[in-house]
Amino acid sequence: MNNKKLMIITIAIVVVAVIAIVILNKQINQADQENVIVDHPVIENQPTMGEEDAPVSIVEFGDYKCPACKAWSERVLPELEKDYIDTGKAKLSYINVLFHGEESVRAALASEAVFKQDPENFWAFHEALFQAQPTTEQHDEQWVTNETLVEIAQETAPDVDLDIDQFDKEIEKYKEEQPLESPEVNLDNQLRIKHNIESTPTVIINGILVNDPFDYKVVSKLIEKELK
Ligand code: CA
Repeated sequence: MNNKKLMIITIAIVVVAVIAIVILNKQINQADQENVIVDHPVIENQPTMGEEDAPVSIVEFGDYKCPACKAWSERVLPELEKDYIDTGKAKLSYINVLFHGEESVRAALASEAVFKQDPENFWAFHEALFQAQPTTEQHDEQWVTNETLVEIAQETAPDVDLDIDQFDKEIEKYKEEQPLESPEVNLDNQLRIKHNIESTPTVIINGILVNDPFDYKVVSKLIEKELK
């Protein structure tokens, strides 16, 4: 009788273990499948952090006015820099998306001007601009003003001269739904359309669209896989 009980318990344990393994495997496969294979964006003429010949190319489609991009820039990017960019394993390029209207355009124009005039200090400006974005509750309020942009540029890239009059002209064009003069912002916009970017931040790693760019475990697993 005792032997029979023991056998039943053993069988039950084995069955539960097998089911657990099957479920776990399925979940792991699903997690892999969620990262869709896409065309990797052309990063020529885009600000790129890290070694030019780094084996892994990370592209962020972002918007300075987007709260999730601020969060990604402050939470995930420092980890990536430490583990992969500073070590020469990966490089990161940033492409502007204009999902939040006039302020997105103004911020994009300023960032492109900094990149053009002083590429060395682009990332300092980029990070400071995200830092200047108010916390989530107030992000809808206007904060990307010419004054703020000039102030941040003076702090991070003092040699840069922002052409405020030109920004205002571009904003007028944007309001009238005319194409902007800035070839850099137009290029980014074309890339956004070409790659069907629907949300920000969108992160693409060596042609793989990351389903959840905030899950650092998934991001680093993907990079590790690409490094092999
Ligand atoms: Ca750009």
